[in-house]
Amino acid sequence: MSGKVEVTKELLFERVKTYINEQDSLNMIEKAYNYAEKKHEGQYRKSGEPYFYHALNVGYILATLKGGPQTVSAGLLHDTMEDCGVCFEELKEEFDEEVAKLVEGVSKIGSLKFQDEKEYQAANHRKIFIAMAKDVRVIIIKLSDRLHNMRTLMYHTEEKQKKIASETLNVYAPIAHRLGLAEMKNELEDLSFMYLENEKYHEIANLLEAKKSEREEVIKKMIIDIDELLSDKNLIFRIFGRSKHIYSIYRKMEKKNRSFEEIYDLYAIRVITQTELNCYEILGHIHNKYRPVPKRLKDYIAVPKPNMYQSLHTSVLDHNGNLFEVQIRTEEMNDIAEMGVAAHWAYKEGKYNSKAEQKEIENKLGWFHDMIGLLDDLEQDHPTDLVDKIQKDIFEANVYAMTPKGRVIELPNGSTPLDFAYRVHTEVGHTAVGAIVNGAHVPLNTVLNTGDVVNIRTNKNTGPSEDWLKIVKSATARNKIKSYLTKKETEARAETIEKGEKLFSEELRKRNLDEKIYADKNKLESIYREFSSNNYNEFMYAVGNKSISLSQVLDRLTNTKSHAMDNEALTKLFQEKAKRRPRTVSEAGVIVEGIDSMMVNVAGCCMPVNGDEIVGFITRGSGIKVHRVQCPNIANETSRLIEVNWDDNGDYQYDSWLRIDATDRNYLISDIITLLSQYKITLNGINSEVMPDKLNVHIDIKIKVNNLQQLENVMTNLKKINSVVDVARRIR
Ligand code: MN
Repeated sequence: MSGKVEVTKELLFERVKTYINEQDSLNMIEKAYNYAEKKHEGQYRKSGEPYFYHALNVGYILATLKGGPQTVSAGLLHDTMEDCGVCFEELKEEFDEEVAKLVEGVSKIGSLKFQDEKEYQAANHRKIFIAMAKDVRVIIIKLSDRLHNMRTLMYHTEEKQKKIASETLNVYAPIAHRLGLAEMKNELEDLSFMYLENEKYHEIANLLEAKKSEREEVIKKMIIDIDELLSDKNLIFRIFGRSKHIYSIYRKMEKKNRSFEEIYDLYAIRVITQTELNCYEILGHIHNKYRPVPKRLKDYIAVPKPNMYQSLHTSVLDHNGNLFEVQIRTEEMNDIAEMGVAAHWAYKEGKYNSKAEQKEIENKLGWFHDMIGLLDDLEQDHPTDLVDKIQKDIFEANVYAMTPKGRVIELPNGSTPLDFAYRVHTEVGHTAVGAIVNGAHVPLNTVLNTGDVVNIRTNKNTGPSEDWLKIVKSATARNKIKSYLTKKETEARAETIEKGEKLFSEELRKRNLDEKIYADKNKLESIYREFSSNNYNEFMYAVGNKSISLSQVLDRLTNTKSHAMDNEALTKLFQEKAKRRPRTVSEAGVIVEGIDSMMVNVAGCCMPVNGDEIVGFITRGSGIKVHRVQCPNIANETSRLIEVNWDDNGDYQYDSWLRIDATDRNYLISDIITLLSQYKITLNGINSEVMPDKLNVHIDIKIKVNNLQQLENVMTNLKKINSVVDVARRIR
């Protein structure tokens, strides 16, 4: 992409033909070439060169990015609408609709005047730019246009140079960076820097020049050493040194307040090979020979950057103590690193696949369209106006993280890799053991930020634990962990019961007792209570975990037999006993032992939910009402109270009224509703009453919950809402 080449028609086609073979495509580019040359006839640039020379250069830059026929053609034609009065219909007629649309898109962006460039506006300008472009190819054509303008900026006045350079640095270079067009970004930055801070630019450039031969020696030696190291390993690879661009050195010096020498004692080497596996192999060989610097290994192959960049990065010390940064990647990764998005769309357009391909890229970068101005890594982003503030609030209520393949996962703020894992797939959540975030291994409780690329490490032999409930933020993850733990517990219980049954029948066999008689559930029932069990399962569970002695049980059972009853009479007796122990399980999941088919309802005054301490009140004529024990409405009752219990095995829902005391403010109710929906809580009613002082407000909400734990969780979170003073359950 060097600016020093004199671009000619021959050179353009030489370049294009390295990746486009179809004659139709070549014809289209040739036609665009001739058409633009004719339209710009008689127009000249400030440099005195024919205007068409600019168009040709833009086309050529696009060809170095392997742009498809339509993109290269649109590059050649990009100024014909604005400067030669060509209309959309004419371009559509002469070429095709796609080309016309691209040229129109570039012209529209061209008419944007980013006046009075201040840093804080740059974020907005980038946003507008992206929003208007719609097609990623329009952006790349516009960037190529800007690059050539920057290369020829010397013909303008100093004032204009500074204005254009500042816009380039703040608006265009960051966009190139976002799209992964690394080389383009570097050149845009260096050129801008040269015009904005001419002295500093040349200071660094001169230092670089002075150190050049010395540095080249060190790098050359390292390249030879690594080449030797890898030569007998049956690998195909190439190695080269790379130089850092001037602006990045300057920025590091400024940011870290270091001298040039301190920044520039780092040597950089790149190894390019064939497959992903080769990359890791080469990394292994290099680490084997040179001491790696701890914590400098970044695996962007497993976890690509949001702009699709992939590579292995490591830093090692050579035997003279020189620090080397080594990048290892495949050819394809190298293309993407240098050309970003363009590396993807380029080839495909030639194969007439452009629309599908572009859609794929745009899906990948779709979130970026919305957020370009909100999450940028640049420090100068300080959105000023109200609209931006509001947008920021909306976006910051959530975190947008990504899978290595670019799928965007939306999570509540404060979420961890564990929340992420459960959002990807329940099974991924259950088997998560660690995470790689932006290339670095992190613990599962790390708080995620928007733009993080998260790769979950799993292991099929592990599972969730109680501790996880403290780590997760999202309701979905919490529920999935809970149901896993409950299921595990149920399974463990079932196993113990089974074991109890086995031990029991073994014992019967040992004593030569008939299983048909002694293992009969009805017969056993008569002795449950003597062994502190309420039912068959509890009994067998206790046998299984050996908390009751089998020999005592058997003694007791055989004693019963010695009362000289025959089997039939015995069975009958057990059956009668069983009948005398009826129970009611109400619709609300309340168990009343010893009473059949009784009407049982939860009381509307205190509205108990599963998990509350409760007591039953036997009403006159309308069954049993279940109250919370602290309910004032039953405070003076004694004789009509009855013991009741929650059924923990069912799936029940309970209404609950909460009173929220708060200082009144705008959007308070909306914040409450948002929180409830975040936790997937059904809201059935809401009343609010402003207190006579006009400052405070009572908000009563009626919600549905599954149990006390969920209710308390909601209450805790409601209390965290700004201006909320207290949240309490209502008793009427
Ligand atoms: Mn132009």
